[in-house]
Amino acid sequence: MIVSIASGKGGTGKTTVAASLARVWVRRLVAVDLDVEAPNLHLFLHPVIEEIVPAWIETPVVDESKCTFCLACSALCQFKAISVMGSVVLTFAEMCHGCGGCIAICPGKAISPGKRQLGEISRGYAGNAEYLAGCLRIGESMSPPMMRQVKSRLKEIVCASDRDAIIDAPPGVSCPAVNAVIDSDVIVLVTEPTPFGLHDFKLAWEAFSPFGKPMGVVINRAGAGDRELYSFCEEKNIPVLAEIPDERAVAEGYSKGRVIADLSPEFRKIFVSLHSKIFELAAGALDMEAAHA
Ligand code: SF4
Ligand code: SF4
Repeated sequence: MIVSIASGKGGTGKTTVAASLARVWVRRLVAVDLDVEAPNLHLFLHPVIEEIVPAWIETPVVDESKCTFCLACSALCQFKAISVMGSVVLTFAEMCHGCGGCIAICPGKAISPGKRQLGEISRGYAGNAEYLAGCLRIGESMSPPMMRQVKSRLKEIVCASDRDAIIDAPPGVSCPAVNAVIDSDVIVLVTEPTPFGLHDFKLAWEAFSPFGKPMGVVINRAGAGDRELYSFCEEKNIPVLAEIPDERAVAEGYSKGRVIADLSPEFRKIFVSLHSKIFELAAGALDMEAAHA
């Protein structure tokens, strides 16, 4: 099973939930940081890194001696990453999404694949869980190609060792967030019971609902705000899978990079219950009335 931990905005406790869930997961697991622009799952899980490999994107290199300046490549590239100006072909590697289209269609075989480094992929162990994370270079904007490479590595690990996966997804509802959750079996949204939390939670729910995946919510800082979020979940039949109380111990643990599930038996119980409810949600066996009690 692949479970994505997502949120409509940053700072809701998404990574905290992913780390705690990884701690109590019963089956073999890969904990994956797909928030490639700002990965921070390692700050909680403290993995032992065994391998770091560069992640590349394939970009076009043009041999103008073979070019007939037919314009086919620039007409094809929707990202304007290759452009023919008279008898010059310009390439803009930073804008290239690495689709390979221009290389495939060039009639004169004038374009060959070059490469540009996007960032790095790390793999290691955090306790019993495998750990996998992508990290973009500073200033790099191509999250989706980087995420594709991390996901491809994840697929290899899952197939080779029959592991579940918990994905710490990027916050928000733009392309990277959608890219992270789209292959999941279950989506867990983390939010707070405040007007801001509710606003961004609604955006996430609207963005991810069309995928038809089982989806539930973890309410962080429960007790801090109002009941609007609970009313919205009840109205839309979104199960509340867990509530993390708004307690000083949580904030202190967070500030020290500690996993909440490790703070006390009571906190651990919250995540053991969340683990069970995720499986019930995936199996369509969750008691929805209890989930809104
Ligand atoms: S498609 Fe090939 S031959 Fe045509 S302009 Fe581009 S590089 Fe030149
Ligand atoms: S590889 Fe794709 S994105 Fe990159 S320049 Fe060619 S057509 Fe454009």
